[in-house]
Amino acid sequence: MYYNSESILFLNGKYVKASEASTDLYSQTLHYGYGVFEGIRAYQTVNGVKIFKSEEHYKRLKKSCELVNIPFSYTVEELEQITYQVLRRNNFADAYIRPLVYCGPNMSLTSPKEVSLMICAWEWGKYLGDQLLRLSISSYQRPNPKSIRIEAKVSGHYVNSILATSEAKQRGFDEALMLDMEGNVAEGPGANFFYEKDGALFTPSLGHILPGITRHTVLQICKELDIPVVEKKINPEELFEADGAFYCGTAAEVAGIESIEGHTFNKHWKNTLGAIIQEAYKSLVLEKSYSSYIIV
Ligand code: PMP
Repeated sequence: MYYNSESILFLNGKYVKASEASTDLYSQTLHYGYGVFEGIRAYQTVNGVKIFKSEEHYKRLKKSCELVNIPFSYTVEELEQITYQVLRRNNFADAYIRPLVYCGPNMSLTSPKEVSLMICAWEWGKYLGDQLLRLSISSYQRPNPKSIRIEAKVSGHYVNSILATSEAKQRGFDEALMLDMEGNVAEGPGANFFYEKDGALFTPSLGHILPGITRHTVLQICKELDIPVVEKKINPEELFEADGAFYCGTAAEVAGIESIEGHTFNKHWKNTLGAIIQEAYKSLVLEKSYSSYIIV
C-alpha cells in the first residue's frame, strides 16, 4: 500500500490527504497516457533528510513536459520546496517521491487545456529486492525514438516496461533486459544497464534509452574512482562473455545481476566493479565520503 488514511500529498497548490484526493475520469492522461512523471528518492543522510539529485530530476520533469508539449510553469526551486514539505508533513526520511504532471478532461488528441501537478511520497525499500537479479532478454523492444520522445518520462511509455517485466516474471525470471529496435542492448524496464569485462565497464550509449540520472552518477563515480567506462552499442552476444553486470536507477539504486537468460558471469558479484560502485553509491546518497574505495 502506498498510502494510508494519514498520508498527505500535494495537489495543485494544496496539501491534502491522499485518501481524499480525486481526479477527473475524463483526464487525457488516464485515457491516453499523456502525462509525465519522475521517480526521486530522499535519504536520511548524515546532514539530515536530503532529496538526492532533486535539481536533475526536476529539470528532467520540466524537459519531459516541454518535449511532449504539456505546459508546466513550476520552477525547480518551487518543486523542491513542495517536495520537502510533502516529506515533512508525512514525517518521512527515507522515501520514494513521485511527481506526476497530468492533463485535465480532454477526449480529443489536442493540447491540454488544464494541467495538474501531484507530488506524493511513500516509504519504499529496495525496488528490485536484495537478491542478485536473474534477467531474461525480453521479446519486447524499447520503443523506436522516432515514434516517441525516449528521453522523456512519459506515463504511456511505461506500458512497454510493464509488458517486459510481466513477460520476464511469467518466464520465471526476476526482471527483463530490453533490446532496442536495432537489436542492441538498451536498458531495463526501469533502470539502465552496465556490464564489466576485463577491468572496464560498458554501457549503451545515449540515443535509444532513457538518460538515467543514476547512470550519470555512476559515470561520475567511475571517473572519481578511475574505473574505465565505455559508452557504445552493445551486441547481446557480448553479455555471455561478461565478468559481471548491474542495473542502476533511482528506484533500483545499484542492483547486481546474477545471470542473463541463465548465463552466469565469470566473477562473483562481490568481486566485481559493480559491487564497488554499489558501495560508493550508497555512501554518496547518504552524503558520506567514498573516495577511500580502492580499486583492486
Ligand atoms: N530507464 C528507464 C526506462 C527508467 O524508467 C528509469 C527510471 N527512471 C531509468 C532508466 C533510470 O533512470 P534514473 O536513474 O533517472 O532513475
